[in-house]
Amino acid sequence: MENDILLKGTGASPGIVIGKALIVENGRPDFTHYRLSSEKEIREETAALHKAIEDSKAQLTKTKKEISKKKIFEAQYIIDTHILILQDKILCNDVVKRIRSEKVDAAWALKSTMEELKKSVLSLSDDYMRERVSDLDYIERRLLQNLAGKKVDDVPKVTEKSIIISNDLSPADTAILNVAEVLGFVIECGGKTSHTAIMARALKIPSVVGLKDVLTKVKNGDTVIVDGTHGVIIVNPDAEMLRKYNQKKAQHEEFEKRLLQYRDLAAESVDGYKISLLANIEIVEEVGSVIDYGADGIGLFRTEFLYLNKKELPSEDELFEIFKKTVQTVAPRPVTIRTLDIGGDKFISHIDVAEEMNPVMGLRAIRFCLKETVIFKTQLRAILRASAFGNTKIMFPMISCVDEVLQIKKILREVKAQLKKEKKPFNADIPIGIMVEVPSSATIADLLAKEVNFFSIGTNDLIQYLLAIDRVNEQVSYLYEPLHPAVLRLLRRIIQAAHDNGIPVAMCGEMAGESSYIPILLGLGIDELSMNPIAILEAKKVLRSMDYKQCREVVDQLFAFTTAEGIKKFLNRQKKNYLPKNGLSLKI
Ligand code: PEP
Ligand code: MG
Repeated sequence: MENDILLKGTGASPGIVIGKALIVENGRPDFTHYRLSSEKEIREETAALHKAIEDSKAQLTKTKKEISKKKIFEAQYIIDTHILILQDKILCNDVVKRIRSEKVDAAWALKSTMEELKKSVLSLSDDYMRERVSDLDYIERRLLQNLAGKKVDDVPKVTEKSIIISNDLSPADTAILNVAEVLGFVIECGGKTSHTAIMARALKIPSVVGLKDVLTKVKNGDTVIVDGTHGVIIVNPDAEMLRKYNQKKAQHEEFEKRLLQYRDLAAESVDGYKISLLANIEIVEEVGSVIDYGADGIGLFRTEFLYLNKKELPSEDELFEIFKKTVQTVAPRPVTIRTLDIGGDKFISHIDVAEEMNPVMGLRAIRFCLKETVIFKTQLRAILRASAFGNTKIMFPMISCVDEVLQIKKILREVKAQLKKEKKPFNADIPIGIMVEVPSSATIADLLAKEVNFFSIGTNDLIQYLLAIDRVNEQVSYLYEPLHPAVLRLLRRIIQAAHDNGIPVAMCGEMAGESSYIPILLGLGIDELSMNPIAILEAKKVLRSMDYKQCREVVDQLFAFTTAEGIKKFLNRQKKNYLPKNGLSLKI
């Protein structure tokens, strides 16, 4: 049929759903802008702005109260941030100044001020920070609607199963939707780290984001297929397309159901070799998935989200409560908490961090923490205190030399002594580990292994630095190759150095969750794999189909090859040996 339209965006939350579209449009009211000609008009416009700010704060506070019953914590945090932005005196004063100096109406002054602010945020090179423009958009839209006297706190009515199509959903909108009736989200703006994407993943609702102009292509009641795994939607599919996707959906559900059988089975190869499969998480809401997918624990808790998008730094007690809750929920399984991987381009709004030419090679992660020791010590105290409530480990990112580890250990000793003095309980023998993700630390892995209790390889950064490929630059992404002989040689070196010194090695970069690489990683001798919780069941399935001894033999032979292509061809030829129970069509 000619009518069906296929649109490609970014898959934000996996799965396939088919349903009727419900448009939730968050428009900006139209204004006729005008120049002010008297002091009286200036005063009126200033008062209108103040009233719009107060009304917006009251509406958001009310929404926050409503959603607190639903326990969607992430949304509550985000609404708090929006309230804080509204309370920002500098923002308000800037608009007032503009009303007076440029003699323009409040809406006009607000738009110009926000435009400048958004431009400066957009110039940052970090994806996550750029997406924070959406926070400014929500605030601007709400203020404009209040200035126009529009009623803005209407909850979109979702009374039957629907696919929500929107230009942009604020966290407040998303949280007050009746999520039980939401089949999927399709959003014009945003990427994988937009608020809607984060919440959709936490709620396990298939979603596609970044679909520009989708509102001009979909109407209320249209039938829409959302393929959140591949980032595609199809509007008004013909019978053939519907049949195809219903089949795909059934296959996907069947696949998930079959995978679920693996949930409680051991992570063990055909010949009885066991490893741990752990989860990477970024927000506390994901802890549920860790349990649902049968992970052996959390191998990487990225703590950046607790700091980004906040006006104030989180306090020790706030951090402690989050870590304690996580550790207690996952117990007796381990939780590895990574200290703050921030700095460079990921800035904390009220701390001055210099602009850098090469932020990924700048003052980030451990380098930032060793400079900002107050922030670092606060986080260490919170992690240590949480360690009294369950199996907790600390991991440090971006280590590039032994000196850094020595400095960390000194600080850790001070923090422990202080806690002891305060009679606050903690695990005095808490294991400490480092991320091996900089080529220098991989090269001196033998020296570093003597200083710590475990390694975790961060392939996302390691491959970026080793192969000199910016991990967010699409122009060079064709060069990103985990099977590059240099990568395999370095992995072998790190693992060997760790084992020679009697410590285990995990991997927590994206490579660990790619099922086709699992036999190779096992063959290289990796002890633990940590990945997106969704990937765990498939990883277990692969593991239970492979022969560990054969993997080791096959991997030994990889080092004779000079190209990734040659390695792939060889692996494909050998598959029947190292994957004897291969009902799998693993593609290398
Ligand atoms: C990595 O670099 O592989 C890693 C896991 O850390 P991040 O992706 O958070 O930099
Ligand atoms: Mg990293």
